[in-house]
Amino acid sequence: MPATVGVLALQGAFAVHAAILENLGAATIEVRTAEQLASVDALVIPGGESTTISMLLERSAMLEPLRARLDEGLPVLGTCAGMILLASEISDGRDDQHALGAIDLAVTRNGYGRQIDSFEADIDVAGLDAPFHAVFIRAPVVERVGNAVEVLAEVDDQAVLCTSGSVTVAAFHPELSDDDRIHRQWLDRIGG
Ligand code: GLN
Repeated sequence: MPATVGVLALQGAFAVHAAILENLGAATIEVRTAEQLASVDALVIPGGESTTISMLLERSAMLEPLRARLDEGLPVLGTCAGMILLASEISDGRDDQHALGAIDLAVTRNGYGRQIDSFEADIDVAGLDAPFHAVFIRAPVVERVGNAVEVLAEVDDQAVLCTSGSVTVAAFHPELSDDDRIHRQWLDRIGG
């Protein structure tokens, strides 16, 4: 298990991630500064609003330090907006929105469209022996998956949970299902 797991706490759904990780025995800190970022051994980038988180990363002088840590292989879990931020290509983003390019995915923001803005689905996840009830909220659609990316779960043939190297991303909110298996699986993956 990594010594300290940071949860990026600039905006969005960070608190529940921290609570789940603490319950699983991980020491967690909320990350709002470059100093805090430098002190963590793994990081969660939560759901929220990717354009806002991108802007706040820039304003808090964390964008370049985060890129550097990702380049060095910082283990990271990005959920929903976090997936968007970590992707290599973003469609329907803002022009000034940064793609961290930590995982070779092309995503479309809010790609499921207005009518099915938010939905829930029981998904089969590689490595879990029973389906996970996944909550999607204005979720990104994964349009392209790079060769080095392993798809761990799909909805209607579209990837919704992926991993590559030290990066894991989910289009849904695994913290909202009263089920810690995605977090547990992530900690196992990065600790091993
Ligand atoms: N649509 C949001 C974005 O663009 C993501 C929504 C979410 O994180 N629940 O960042």
